[in-house]
Amino acid sequence: PVDRSPEIQEARLKLPILAEEQVIMEAISENPIVIICGETGSGKTTQVPQFLYEAGYASSNGAIGITEPRRVAAVSMSQRVAKEMNLSHRLVSYQIRYEGNVTDETQIKFMTDGVLLKEIQKDFLLSKYKVIIIDEAHERSMYTDILIGLLSRIVPLREKKGLPLKLIIMSATLRVEDFTDNNRLFYATPPVIQVDARQFPVTVHFNKKTPLDDYSGECFRKVCKIHRMLPSGGILVFLTGQAEVHSLCRRLRKAFPFQKNNTAGGDDDKEESVEEIRKFRKSRKRKKVMTLPKIDLDNYSVVPVDEGDEDRDAETDDDIAGSDIDLDLGDGDSEEDEKSDSSLPLYVLPLYSLLAPEKQAKVFRAPPPGTRLCVVATNVAETSLTIPGIKYVVDCGKVKKRFYDKITGVSSFRVTWISQASANQRAGRAGRTEPGHCYRLYSSAVFMDFEKFSAPEITKRPVEDLILQMKALNIEKVINFPFPTPPPTEALAAAEELLIALGALKEPPMTGRLKQQLAAKLSCPISPLGRIMATFPVAPRYAKMLALSRQHDCLPYTITIVSAMTVRELFEEFDRPAVSEEETAKLKGKKARLLQMQRIWAGQGPMQKLGDLMVMLGAVGACEYAGCTRKFCEENGLRYKAMLEIRRLRGQLTTAVNSVCTDAGLYVDPKMKPPTEAQATYLRQIVLAGLGDHVARRVQAEELLDDKWKNAYKTALLDDPVFIHPSSVLFKQLPEFVVYQEIVETTKLYMKGVSAVEPE
Ligand code: ADP
Ligand code: MG
Repeated sequence: PVDRSPEIQEARLKLPILAEEQVIMEAISENPIVIICGETGSGKTTQVPQFLYEAGYASSNGAIGITEPRRVAAVSMSQRVAKEMNLSHRLVSYQIRYEGNVTDETQIKFMTDGVLLKEIQKDFLLSKYKVIIIDEAHERSMYTDILIGLLSRIVPLREKKGLPLKLIIMSATLRVEDFTDNNRLFYATPPVIQVDARQFPVTVHFNKKTPLDDYSGECFRKVCKIHRMLPSGGILVFLTGQAEVHSLCRRLRKAFPFQKNNTAGGDDDKEESVEEIRKFRKSRKRKKVMTLPKIDLDNYSVVPVDEGDEDRDAETDDDIAGSDIDLDLGDGDSEEDEKSDSSLPLYVLPLYSLLAPEKQAKVFRAPPPGTRLCVVATNVAETSLTIPGIKYVVDCGKVKKRFYDKITGVSSFRVTWISQASANQRAGRAGRTEPGHCYRLYSSAVFMDFEKFSAPEITKRPVEDLILQMKALNIEKVINFPFPTPPPTEALAAAEELLIALGALKEPPMTGRLKQQLAAKLSCPISPLGRIMATFPVAPRYAKMLALSRQHDCLPYTITIVSAMTVRELFEEFDRPAVSEEETAKLKGKKARLLQMQRIWAGQGPMQKLGDLMVMLGAVGACEYAGCTRKFCEENGLRYKAMLEIRRLRGQLTTAVNSVCTDAGLYVDPKMKPPTEAQATYLRQIVLAGLGDHVARRVQAEELLDDKWKNAYKTALLDDPVFIHPSSVLFKQLPEFVVYQEIVETTKLYMKGVSAVEPE
């Protein structure tokens, strides 16, 4: 029996999912697999585990496991459920990549989807669990998709063993056809239970103009206007990343301070002292306008306004109180906003995945009396967390996503427009407790150009790393795997071929007809080398380089080169148009300085042949030697942010290598010496081993039929001539054989990240 506090009881009863408890539990008892759909905030994540617990699904020999695509949800949901059930964290626990509080007694376990995938690698039948809940399935993260595919096989296997496992898939949208209309996935179509959402209407306001890049500034202005002009109710702002979140928090705290130590920008907002609250109340009394103006939200019409700057004039409280309020706050600047105004305290909180859990938890508490809550969040607030009391949503329309280079598989984070489905999810956050408003900082025309849904992650990226992970799970015939949405066959074949070439998979026997060969290729088992490569968190090409580098003490160099290749754009771009002659001269000077440094970093003798990779190694070495300061970067044409990112990655890869080679004893040496001549030669072989499919040969004089092949190279992949990029240190040398990191197409096909290699 669960002993819940009266307040929790009351809050639970308001959740729409409570009305469905019986329907849900009957479906689960009668079916091995059940899908539950319900709007964000309807109570899926917090309540379904409790239903199961109370119905006796958890016991000492079998737990309830819940996966989340995000760490922040795994941590905060375990805490919330423990609190609601009045149970200790020893029983309701969480496990994320690097930390957790799981014990022998754990009966409800929240974890990230990656953690469960790793557990399957150790125990394919997941015998520790009686129930697995896959949460946030609509997000279609790659691991979630793979887990659903794996579980579709694990569930029948457990059935056969007489130890049934229940699988529950939860989604915030009704778009679940990829799971239900997919008879390769589930033999019997699982029932879909729809939880009615108690959603209040949300009025959506589009900007007239879409800010070109300063959406952060636009967010700031919008929040200022909402706070000054609109009735009470929490504000939720969607931005794309941690740095943006912090900088907006700082700006807002400065504009609307509510207590001294808040303006310092720290997050350790102490509970407000009674004295301060009293002072605040007094100061409010002296002011003419005591409360924010009230408006009738049901009697609202969007008043057409002039393009953009209708409210540039300073607004006073009196003005607002006396006039109709235009809820469509409009776009554009307002100088007024930057002034600090302590009479209107705003309680500003950041929220993003990597924020410490105790700081994340603050968003769920009521704001200090007399203040308005304003949460500045990344995408985590879109579906995983429901923040109480939000009435206004400010949506920048962007998201930071990982993109993959089709040629190199190198990943990078980029900010792009969200999908229409995401935009609507974000808007929905404003209507949980009463009617709300969503301010979109982009025009309706831009919205119409958004894609309807974001494509499942698995279809948008090269899959060689995923295939390697699956082979590490001993799934040999990847082509037969029941993907909810399969990656394109070409992508699978290309991945398999690359992994064979890298030695991560065992070569198929070269007999039989071509077709059989191809089939065999898509079912090759993993090699011992592949198993090691699978443990490194980088693309297989780079993992191969790492795996080879134990020899001749090359590891620190390979780790650095791989880190630098994974982070893009190490060098500042100085070939940009300048606004004045003065600036032109300045850019010219900086460029000359960078070129000079690059020649120094390129080293001499065999080092020089490593080409651009040696430049990367030399640049990182020099920068670290100087303490990786912003000053050093600016003086030498390095991108400071890139250098910081490389530093982080070096640390991560060093840890990963140490855990495989326990006797390697590697550490990140800020005073790393340049490689010896011998090491430089070895490094070229290592690089060739990883980039073996990226070899290019200079076109010979006798092959020169056409002028377009002058100074050109021939690759295995392309019919057209490719060239060494002018930014390469090997541009003028034109070695006979080179390997390249990637090919980019501008006016011509250019190779970047070039090293010279010798024919065997
Ligand atoms: P769903 O998974 O369907 O999106 P949840 O179970 O996450 O819904 O949330 C249900 C309700 O519980 C929401 O109204 C939310 O405000 C509340 N809630 C969730 N976590 C917390 C928390 N840590 N503190 C207070 N309320 C919370
Ligand atoms: Mg949820």
